[in-house]
Amino acid sequence: MRSPCYDGRVDPAPFAGAWKDPMRRSMPILLSLVSLVSLVATAACGGGDVPPPVTGGTTPPQPSASAPPPAAVVPTVGGHSIDLAAMDTSTKPGADFFMYANGAWYAKAEIPADRPVTGVWLQATEDIEKRTKQILEEAIHAAAAPGTPTQKVADAYASYLDEAAIEALGVAPLASELARIAKIADKRELAAFLGSQLRADVDPLNATNFHTTHIFGLWVEQDLNDTTRYAPYMLQGGLGMPDRSYYVDDAAPMVTMRTKYAQHLATMLHLAKIKGADAKAAHAMALETKIASVHATRVESEDAGKANNPWARADFTTHAPGMDWSAFFTAARLEKQPSIIVWHPHATSGIAALVKSEPLDVWKDYLTTRAVERAAFYLNKALLDEQFAFYGTTLSGQPTPPPRWRRALDVTNGELGEAVGQMYVGRYFPPESKEAVKAIVANLLTAYGKRIDALAWMAPATKAKAKEKLASLKVSIGYPDTWRDYGALTIVKGDALGNAERASRFEYERNLAKLGKPVDRGEWCMVPQEVNAVNLPIRNALNFPAGILVAPFFDPKSTAAANYGSIGAIIGHEISHSFDNEGAKFDAQGRFANWWTPEDLAHFQASGAALAAQFSAYRPFPDAAVNGEQTLSEDIADLAGLAAAYDAWQASLGGAVAPTQDGLTGDQQFFLAFAQSWREKLRDEVLRVALTTDGHAPPRYRALTVRNVDAWYAAFGAQSTDPLFLPPQARVRVW
Ligand SMILES: [Zn+2]
Repeated sequence: MRSPCYDGRVDPAPFAGAWKDPMRRSMPILLSLVSLVSLVATAACGGGDVPPPVTGGTTPPQPSASAPPPAAVVPTVGGHSIDLAAMDTSTKPGADFFMYANGAWYAKAEIPADRPVTGVWLQATEDIEKRTKQILEEAIHAAAAPGTPTQKVADAYASYLDEAAIEALGVAPLASELARIAKIADKRELAAFLGSQLRADVDPLNATNFHTTHIFGLWVEQDLNDTTRYAPYMLQGGLGMPDRSYYVDDAAPMVTMRTKYAQHLATMLHLAKIKGADAKAAHAMALETKIASVHATRVESEDAGKANNPWARADFTTHAPGMDWSAFFTAARLEKQPSIIVWHPHATSGIAALVKSEPLDVWKDYLTTRAVERAAFYLNKALLDEQFAFYGTTLSGQPTPPPRWRRALDVTNGELGEAVGQMYVGRYFPPESKEAVKAIVANLLTAYGKRIDALAWMAPATKAKAKEKLASLKVSIGYPDTWRDYGALTIVKGDALGNAERASRFEYERNLAKLGKPVDRGEWCMVPQEVNAVNLPIRNALNFPAGILVAPFFDPKSTAAANYGSIGAIIGHEISHSFDNEGAKFDAQGRFANWWTPEDLAHFQASGAALAAQFSAYRPFPDAAVNGEQTLSEDIADLAGLAAAYDAWQASLGGAVAPTQDGLTGDQQFFLAFAQSWREKLRDEVLRVALTTDGHAPPRYRALTVRNVDAWYAAFGAQSTDPLFLPPQARVRVW
């Protein structure tokens, strides 16, 4: 399931992820919208690396030595309530509600050259970036004692900022990895090398990060079949572009993209001074294409039912012959695990067969290419520029790279995200905000329970199960209860690439150490300073980072109508993931168990099919539509979240009439706030990537979710002749 992220949207830089830090980041959703992400990526809960890497721990609180002054300033980013100047009142609400709410803004908005997208998420993100930058600069000047979180954060940031030192090193930091690859003498050593590169850099259910450039990715989470323990999961990987479709689809944009990618690989190898660069790049491209051909699609990847394949160690040899699995698992330090859940059985067999069928030299050329690509983010300008030219400009249409400090910030968040987060919340997330959001969450949960009670079609037995699941939901607001301990991570000033590699290794070891221990439902899957939110279906838990609890999503100065229409709907969205088409497959304990009667499930699936059809009719380009199947979980979450937020807001009024503001009724404020929280403008390239790889529909269509809610029609007088009009029986009601 995916649940994730709300939406991801988060990182305004889509690719960023990708491009950003190949070694560690990927956003879970990057932008969700762009979750495209991952290109290079890595992971999240479990893995660690989300943009800000995330998560959580089970570790003792680290007194932040450097902790900034305790001040606690209420975050404000934008204005409050409804942004009237953003609206285009010449557009009828029933014709295009997104443009009615945002049209004036949309007409004028320019996407910054160093960003893939602009809008409210970027607004919030930029504000948080500035605050975090200041925190890191202060850490540098704090001269903290060696080994303290402040010193590590300061050195990680400073090391990446120091362009002159990095330039002077050239490609030297890459030499040891290339030498390791050159020494691979046979297929057994190849298997061991591939195993040694396994990282905890994917997360199919919590952060919905399916992408790793390593040949496989590891995820350590609660066992789908035994909720008392963690299990190791293994996912497909090995591609440099976002998805298999980039390698195998016949559509003209994909064909063009892979031609440019092949050229990019050759250029990278030349810049890294690799002998025989052109031939090696061609070998790598050919092998990547074969790997892509055995990969599962994104839609297939999201089906946890197909993914629950526990293989005993011996099964690998029989189900996936061709790879020396003993060598692989020993090098990965998983040799003692009796079984591993294989998320992509077909790809696992296919990759193992390629290990056998393809010449050793081709594999070494491929690994060389991957090594250069993975390290380039931390190397000299020539490599960095070329990498951005492909991932930033060609793939996501972004003309210029982000400034150095922002990349350094991403790197630091990736390596030491919770250490930075602890400093952030100490200064910017006051207890009053936490309490206010808690109250909204409580109202949403109550509203959700009432909606379940009121469902005419659902059997009492199914309702009881749903209520049990709702009651056991673990909601974390702002930041985790316990902070991760980075004591075992060594950060060396002046060694940017080494820091990234050690952090990636640290994250892997941290995840291996969880195997055999009880599951910690309080572990976070995002860092507190991230503008995002997430449902962790397998743990029946929600994370709302401090980063999203800012204006315009949440603003103590706004009307209740506006706050419920924005952050309320976001909270409702995350709650709904526990009950969407994927969340419905997990019970209150996170077991992969069907808790539905057959009749109820049939009704639910029919509603889902109607919603999928509604979204599949949206066409951003003449040749490309939204894939309503791919975005179904998120679309259900948006719809149910919006409906529950409306109910919760109504209940919060206690029978009073909501105050009018700026001539807008309470209902109008509620729905406008919702549509304005989807105020985004994406580059076309980014939008295309998102259509292929993102589990979320493009923001402007998410805003149109309102057409399924009766109260919206009354609030704006939408007529049967309006394009968005749906007759009452065609409005989808899932929860
Ligand atoms: Zn979501």
